[in-house]
Amino acid sequence: MSNLEKDPREQSCGAQPAAETVTELLEPRKVWLGKTTQVRRLLPHKERRMVGAWCFVDHYGPDDVRELPGQHRGMWVPPHPHTSLQTVSWLFDGEVLHRDSVGSEALVRPGELNIMTAGPGIAHSEESPGVRAPMLHGAQLWVALPDGALDTVEPSFDQYADLPRLDLDGVRGTVMLGEVAGVVSPATTYTPLVGADLSIDPAGMVPLTTAFEYAVLVVDGPVRVEQQSADRGEMVYLGQGRESFGLSGPGRVLLLGGEPFAEEIVMWWNFIGRSHDEIVAARNEWMAGLSGGSTDRFGVVRGFDGDPLPAPEMPHTQLKPRGRTR
Ligand code: MN
Repeated sequence: MSNLEKDPREQSCGAQPAAETVTELLEPRKVWLGKTTQVRRLLPHKERRMVGAWCFVDHYGPDDVRELPGQHRGMWVPPHPHTSLQTVSWLFDGEVLHRDSVGSEALVRPGELNIMTAGPGIAHSEESPGVRAPMLHGAQLWVALPDGALDTVEPSFDQYADLPRLDLDGVRGTVMLGEVAGVVSPATTYTPLVGADLSIDPAGMVPLTTAFEYAVLVVDGPVRVEQQSADRGEMVYLGQGRESFGLSGPGRVLLLGGEPFAEEIVMWWNFIGRSHDEIVAARNEWMAGLSGGSTDRFGVVRGFDGDPLPAPEMPHTQLKPRGRTR
């Protein structure tokens, strides 16, 4: 997924004070991705920039993506770059065709983890395939890479079709990343992190790691998260220091958590950097590639029927990593 906002504002993340055990309802913000897909953006949020290293959370659908004569429907996101992050594509219904500049062409399907690691730079496209299910429902998530990984992590794409299952009393699901209740995902993360897709019927408790902060995105609801009721597309931030939390359904949620991310980062458009100058350099290299210059950093996405996305103009102000959540 790309950030296709016409005038993306600077987003500063990181360097949060230690979180406490809280229960905060975060309302989504509606954002158009091009002309075909509207998403509900939960992170970055004006009340909270990150949850662990999770720094971007879009929830979309369920949308009817059947083709109509003369009308393109479904996802259509042309090639665009990323730096210093991992993208996690997670579907509840439907399919998305992913292509990237390390040569991957993969069909993203429900219940399978598709994780793309940008390292210094990668480019990808995402579109609804020609033959597809009528409905599309999913989440697009970004994980910030820590300083220590920036010089050593190579661009890559990994698909995990067979993830471990979690079977608790009243809560069942799939562990996408990290570990829940001793069930461990095989996927690589670069900070202590967790992501799980949980179905609730009718209610249950989920064990947590006290050093992590957590948030719960409601996929199908309404549900109760601890004492907070929340509907589809809303998120409940749970803070840090809990040994477990309660879910009441029936419903479905994504559990996202991790160690509070200590570093300051700048997010602008599809880039993460540590400074204004890093963002400017990434933008310049992407734009040079579009006009026939060097594309060594981001490579080329082959097979997509359309032009890559140009980056928006830089803002006139200096981008600064700020150290607060809000
Ligand atoms: Mn993307």
